[in-house]
Amino acid sequence: MTIAWRVPFGDLQRSHQALQTELLAAARRVIESGWYILGAEVTAFEREFAALCGVEHCIGVASGAEALYLALVAAGIGPGDEVITVANACMYDVAAILQAGARPVFVDVDPVTQNMDPAALAAAVTPRAKAIMPVHLFGRLAEMPAIMAVAERHGLTVIEDAAQAHGAWRADAEGAPRMAGQWGHLAAFSFYPSKNLGALGDGGAVVTNHAETAERLRRLRMYGWERKYYTTETGGRNSRLDELQAALLRVKLPHLAAANAARRERAGWYAAALADLPIGLPPDEPGHVYHLYVITLPDRATRDRLRAHLLAHGIGCDIHYPVPTHLQPAYAELGYHLGSLPVTEDLAGRILSLPMYPELSYDDVMLVAETIRTGLV
Ligand SMILES: *Cc1c(COP(=O)(O)O)cnc(C)c1O
Repeated sequence: MTIAWRVPFGDLQRSHQALQTELLAAARRVIESGWYILGAEVTAFEREFAALCGVEHCIGVASGAEALYLALVAAGIGPGDEVITVANACMYDVAAILQAGARPVFVDVDPVTQNMDPAALAAAVTPRAKAIMPVHLFGRLAEMPAIMAVAERHGLTVIEDAAQAHGAWRADAEGAPRMAGQWGHLAAFSFYPSKNLGALGDGGAVVTNHAETAERLRRLRMYGWERKYYTTETGGRNSRLDELQAALLRVKLPHLAAANAARRERAGWYAAALADLPIGLPPDEPGHVYHLYVITLPDRATRDRLRAHLLAHGIGCDIHYPVPTHLQPAYAELGYHLGSLPVTEDLAGRILSLPMYPELSYDDVMLVAETIRTGLV
C-alpha cells in the first residue's frame, strides 16, 4: 500500500532538486576523471569537513558504523576493555564496540535531554573502563563538559557519536561555541542520506586532532597499508569514502549551515504551535541542529494512539528508537534486563518523531500541529 502523504516524514528528492545541476556536474567531474577511490575529491572533502568541525584531521570512511568501529580500533580499544555508552541510540554503538572485541557498558540517560546522564556515567566507571562513547542524540550535544571531566579523572578516551550532529555545538566553560567533533579525542560522523549532511549513498568520517591516530585511521580504512602493498596494521579493512560520494558531499557541505538554521526555525514553529498541549517538547539550545524533532507523550497508549492518528491522516512520523539496545534479543547475553535503565525504557514507550527537514513549509508544520491537536482529544 502506498500512502498519499500530506506531510512525509522525509523528502530527500525535494532537498536534492534544488542542487540538481551542481550534483550532476560533480558526478560528471568524477566520472570523467577516471579516478574513483581516494583521490582529489576525498582529500578536498576531508579538508573542508575538518574545517567545518574545527579539527585538524578528517578521515573519510565507508559509513557512520564503520567510523565508530575504526575510531575504537585506532584508539587502541579491544578485548578486556569496557566502553561506556547509552542504549537509546539504535544498535550502532554497541555493534561497533563488540566488533572491536570490547564490552559495552550501558548507562541511563537524562529524562529531558535524552542524552547520557553524567552522574550515571561517573558511577559506571570500573578499572576496566577504557572509553566513553556519548551520542549527540537528535542533533543536540551530549553533556560534554561533565563527560570530559569524568574522562579526564579516569584517563578515558572519548569517542563522540556525532552521526546526528553535523554542525551542532555547545558553549564550553568560557562560553565559546565548541563543535560536535571538537570535544572528544575522536568523533564519528555518518553521511547516510537522511542525516543533516547526507551523501547520495553511504559514507562516514572520523575526525580527530591527534596526528598519529589520524595516520592509523588512514591505514585502517585501507587494508592496514602503510603504503601500497605494505601492511603495518593487522586490523585493516576496506572502509573508504569513495570519490563520487565525496564530490556530492562537497556540493552539499556549503549548504549545511543554512539547512541547520532552517531546521531550527521549524523547531521554533513546532514549539510555538504545540506549547499548550500536554506533550514534552525537545529542550532547545542555540547549538541544537534538530536532526530529529522528538516529542514525548504522557504514556505509551497515548503515543501509540497519536502515532496511528497521524499516519491515518497522512502525516509521517516514527519512533527513534522503539526498543532500547539492552532489551534487544541479540544482546541478551550482555546481562541487562527490563528495569536496568528505567529512564531509557520509559522514554522508548513515549517518544514520537515528527517530520523535520529544511524543505518543510510553515503550512506543513501547522498541519502536523493541528493533526496532533485533534489526535489528542
Ligand atoms: C546513522 C547513525 C549511525 C550509523 O551511521 P551509518 O552511516 O548508517 O552507518 C551511528 N550512530 C547514530 C547515532 C546514527 O544516527
